[in-house]
Amino acid sequence: KQFKDGLEKTRKGFVEKVTDLMIRRKKIDEEFYEELEEILIGADVGVNTVMNLIEDLRVEVKKRKIEDASELQPVLSEKLSELLRGNDNSQLQMSSNGITVILFVGVNGVGKTTTIGKLAHRFKQEGKKVLLAAGDTFRAGAIEQLEVWGQRAGVEVIKQQSGSDPAAVMYDAVQAAKQRQVDVLLCDTAGRLQNKSNLMEELNKIFRVIQREIPDAPHEVLLVLDATTGQNALNQAKLFGEKSGVTGLVLTKLDGTAKGGIVVAIRQELNLPVKLVGLGEKMDDLQPFDSEQFVHALFA
Ligand code: GDP
Repeated sequence: KQFKDGLEKTRKGFVEKVTDLMIRRKKIDEEFYEELEEILIGADVGVNTVMNLIEDLRVEVKKRKIEDASELQPVLSEKLSELLRGNDNSQLQMSSNGITVILFVGVNGVGKTTTIGKLAHRFKQEGKKVLLAAGDTFRAGAIEQLEVWGQRAGVEVIKQQSGSDPAAVMYDAVQAAKQRQVDVLLCDTAGRLQNKSNLMEELNKIFRVIQREIPDAPHEVLLVLDATTGQNALNQAKLFGEKSGVTGLVLTKLDGTAKGGIVVAIRQELNLPVKLVGLGEKMDDLQPFDSEQFVHALFA
């Protein structure tokens, strides 16, 4: 799916509401701003960001002497683009001379395994040799699920038994990656949050094992967040971001929410680029994040 299809719910639930408001009210008065504020907050744009955005709009309305509300649409999309800018580094860091290692972290159910499968497919299509590491040895079924994606994408999965030490799996995976001269190693990790400090220790150990074998790895640590969980996603990012060396975000299930404003909130509140977005459950439903394309898909 492309942005246009993947963002249909947000376009219907958020952008169309804004458009309706502009047509219905015509006059730009306090009530108009209040209603606009409500719609934006309802779309998970984030309260602080909305307040600033409304202030900016007030300034622009005065400066440009805008009288009819419908003329505000392009101004709003311009402002949203500005808020998202600086996020245009969606390129994944790749090793310049060897194996690129990408680690995926995040809470269970956010779409880690699915994202790994989709990305494996994408890299394969680019002609790269890919290997997967089944580092979530904790959640029942996680290894099998990764294997299903491995088969779909046509890439091999390095695994051990359920319950085994994830760092040992990573060690095996790195050795296999070297032997088979793969280009990209994508590593799944456990996402249980019941015991946060254990999880962080486990991630640190995985880090050390990978780094010992490949000094400039991991090249990316991608935190996967579920766009449909709104504020929760932001909280997870704060929790993981502190300790686990996260380098970028993957925002999944954008197709499943009318609250695509979460992308703006994430950009404003976290100092991490959104690298990829999930726009569906299929293999092709993953796109590099591009702020211009994103805003364009919403307002075009
Ligand atoms: P994990 O526990 O983090 O590995 O999560 P999974 O990869 O198992 O995904 C959990 C559920 O979310 C599955 O049913 C996926 O099909 C679904 N899912 C993952 N990414 C997306 C997405 O971008 N869009 C939609 N609609 N569903 C997704």
